[in-house]
Amino acid sequence: MRRAATDTAGGSAAGAGTAVVEASGESGASDEAGTYAIAGARIFDGTSMLGTGHVVIAGGRIVEVSTSGHAPSGMPVHDGGGATLMPGLIDAHMHYLGPPRTDGPRFGVTTEISLVDDPATQQDKERLRRSFAPSPLPSLWSAGWRATVPGGWGSDGAPNVPVLRDGDDPAAFVADRLAEGSDIIKLALEDIGLDGEPIPVLSAAQINGLVAAATRAGVPSVAHVSKVSLARTAIEAGVTGLAHVPVDVELDPDFLDLVRNSGAFVTPTLTLMSALSAADDPARAAVTADPRVAPYLSSGQRDLLGSPWGFEDRGRLKSAARNVALLHGAGVPIVVGTDSGVPGVAHGVSMIVELELLVGAGLSPSAALTAATSAPADFYRLPGRGRIERGHRADLLLVHGDPTRDITAMRDVAAIWRNGARVGRAA
Ligand SMILES: [Zn+2]
Repeated sequence: MRRAATDTAGGSAAGAGTAVVEASGESGASDEAGTYAIAGARIFDGTSMLGTGHVVIAGGRIVEVSTSGHAPSGMPVHDGGGATLMPGLIDAHMHYLGPPRTDGPRFGVTTEISLVDDPATQQDKERLRRSFAPSPLPSLWSAGWRATVPGGWGSDGAPNVPVLRDGDDPAAFVADRLAEGSDIIKLALEDIGLDGEPIPVLSAAQINGLVAAATRAGVPSVAHVSKVSLARTAIEAGVTGLAHVPVDVELDPDFLDLVRNSGAFVTPTLTLMSALSAADDPARAAVTADPRVAPYLSSGQRDLLGSPWGFEDRGRLKSAARNVALLHGAGVPIVVGTDSGVPGVAHGVSMIVELELLVGAGLSPSAALTAATSAPADFYRLPGRGRIERGHRADLLLVHGDPTRDITAMRDVAAIWRNGARVGRAA
């Protein structure tokens, strides 16, 4: 893929300077990235636990991963004893709608995938994701505007929202989005508005045309869905993944077979389902009140977490969790995303909630962590992200304890590195 190649090749000169590793810094500023080791930590590499060992970082990249022998001498060492080192998390469903872009990295989310935004606000993303310079901002891939029809889901989001009209060429719509800088084609497949009234939705022919054009262009396509019927149309069209789990009915074996055989992933966004039923949202309440989390919440995060949808639909999270269990049991890949940026769901912190909800739905902690690291990197083809591997970008998260045994250890962040430089946690 063209963007992957340029990203991997770029930025080799960055981070070459010598630097001190400030192991105890909570200053809010990133230290300059130099050559150093993180030693004594368990290493979860994005797919499995390798064991206790060390990682050497130089120039913003991982240059050595070892679970045998001592850390090299002659360089600063960050003591990871008792902690677990993992790749920086990837939130594969979020939106920027106001809060500071530093909120994700401060909670270990070093890469974000925005599934709808105004492309005019994302002009620095390609430069940022090629760079190996220290940055408090995440790497960003984005869908830009979604594909929808006049009067359809999201068509009233802004005055300049493009829509696909009857007779328009879906391939031209995709070409326009790619020209605006979209990395992903997002389809809005929703035929009921937030007020419960029917709304127009893309036809099967339009869906097929959009997905085929994205596939020809070599970019992923993902569909917003809440109903099985529209999810089926999307899967049959060949989408790369579903941006939510369908919740209207219990998934039947025929649908599960269809999704598994298609190779598509599903991003459940259980924390959104939880927020939609705000009256019973214990996971979010437990995470955000935890003294290991609460001090780091920004006012923007608090505002989002405290924004109610105003629904009392308490069955939605239960239905979603049951369907996640069915999908996971059928072997369908899960990719973690939160929908942060919408009411009730905040950047960074909501990843912790999502991981706990996924484990509650039946994923093992290791499966949930894989779904938040290597799985999104693979499906969205994010170069150098999602794995602790030689040559990969040193976007890293160190947490106290062992989250592969107890996922709530993710609340207890010890350190975060972005391009090999410490990320300050102060809001
Ligand atoms: Zn969304």
